[in-house]
Amino acid sequence: MIGRQTITDEWRSQRVHWHAYVIPRTDSADRRWRLRVVRLDSEPDAVLSSPVAVADWIERLTREHIEPRQTWAAAEQSWVEFGDADDLARSRRLHLVVASHGDSLYVDIPTSSVPLDLFVEAVTHAECDQHNPEGDPAAA
Ligand SMILES: [Zn+2]
Repeated sequence: MIGRQTITDEWRSQRVHWHAYVIPRTDSADRRWRLRVVRLDSEPDAVLSSPVAVADWIERLTREHIEPRQTWAAAEQSWVEFGDADDLARSRRLHLVVASHGDSLYVDIPTSSVPLDLFVEAVTHAECDQHNPEGDPAAA
């Protein structure tokens, strides 16, 4: 049995790719953006064809926008830094695992101004037939 901590190639058999959206969480932000159906109805900021592309895209945006900050980790009895190399590596691994199962990811990035919400929606060919996943022979 494959645990949820494991990177798999399940996303291939599900024939998904991802539509990614960056939405700043401003007070005036249109609340309809909270709905997947509304997001999928609009042009994505990026189209991602593999779990690695998903993890790369999230990591790039995180590096660009995160405001590094320290938090006390009681379990470890030490200060941990959000946005440092260890944190980015842990997050990247988690994103790879989730995407490899063919799932959507929702990530928020604390910035020096408004938080950014990243919505990475897993879509099937039934939902979108415009983008063929990389390396998926069944999609040709
Ligand atoms: Zn698509």
